[in-house]
Amino acid sequence: MKSSYRPYGCRNDALPPLGPVAPDLTRATTFAYGSAEELRAVGEGEAPGEFYPRYGHPAGRLFERHVAELEASDGAVSFASGMAAINAIFCGLLQAGDAIAVSRYVYGGVEALVTKDLPRFGIEVRRFDPFDDASLRAATRSGVKLIHVETPTNPLCRVIDLKRIVAVARASGALVSVDATFLPPPFQRPLAHGADLVMHSATKMLGGHSDTLAGIVSGRHELLERLEGFRRRTGAILSPDTAWLLVRSLATLTLRTRQASDNAMRIAEFLERHRGSVKQVHYPGLPQHPDHDVARAYMQSYGYMLAFEVAGGLAEAVRVYDCFGVFARAVSLGGVESLASIPLHTSHAMMPPAERRDAGIADGLIRLSVGIEPYATLERDLATALGI
Ligand code: PLP
Repeated sequence: MKSSYRPYGCRNDALPPLGPVAPDLTRATTFAYGSAEELRAVGEGEAPGEFYPRYGHPAGRLFERHVAELEASDGAVSFASGMAAINAIFCGLLQAGDAIAVSRYVYGGVEALVTKDLPRFGIEVRRFDPFDDASLRAATRSGVKLIHVETPTNPLCRVIDLKRIVAVARASGALVSVDATFLPPPFQRPLAHGADLVMHSATKMLGGHSDTLAGIVSGRHELLERLEGFRRRTGAILSPDTAWLLVRSLATLTLRTRQASDNAMRIAEFLERHRGSVKQVHYPGLPQHPDHDVARAYMQSYGYMLAFEVAGGLAEAVRVYDCFGVFARAVSLGGVESLASIPLHTSHAMMPPAERRDAGIADGLIRLSVGIEPYATLERDLATALGI
């Protein structure tokens, strides 16, 4: 059986120029052919046609084609979740005896995967600070196969200077994978800065409506082929229904991200003007953010995620949080609706306190995933909750 990963052609093969303007949804899990030879040829990848959906399906391929266009990549491979995508990158490309260098600022699920699982399979995990060149060089000194970073980071929206990471990777022969979940294409394109793979939890802004769980990886053909093989063997593909919904979501991706990012910029400026109630605002669009200049080089918008530290610590943050009427008290991010979470209670609850403080995550920090509501509605909610 040959690989069922198929490179994509020109954009006109995504949908026919005549006929239905929205894609059909095929839920079939098997496809009948007229002869033994026809079925054999499709199965071997010698003739076009559907074979079995764990290998790939029309809605999934359409989603992948659109994301590949947005990333300006050779192609993309979609997965049942962001974690399934990350697992495919790690376990599909590495083997026992290999080493991986992982940024110390990654999503908790990735943290768990690299501490609990990769070592069980004989993969050495080295951690590094992506804002400290010496730490990166130390982690990559004796042969790493893969360097993995997340940018912007959670929850402080630090932006990594990818060219520095890529330069070290090239010198040590490592690949670079980037989790870009916090800001979708075309607003940031890590591949254009030399990354080998970029992944997204499509559960977030790519899906955008808090109703789909999925992941996607884009990059070069030869790497994607290996990821598709791993996906097929492990059964980590997304469902046709999910892929179909994601295709519909992509039609508004740019509009949604732009509106949410504009709201986030205005919220950051509003909070910054109320430094009595707010101790610090973390948003890369603000000139005082430590990575503002890096963000200008890598991002076409400063994103829809921001965090702010309430003056008065955790007790006051909880009081403010419980007063929200528009910001939903929920985890996750990237939906059309605005969400708020307290990292100490959610994404960073498992992190030892000393490490959390060292990472700059204050107890009174509130993280916002800004949606596309009218800006005035969001400002009013924040002002009321903060009592300003
Ligand atoms: N990467 C980041 C930055 C995330 O925030 C998340 C989930 O919150 C993931 C990966 C995992 O994605 P999923 O929940 O779709 O598996």
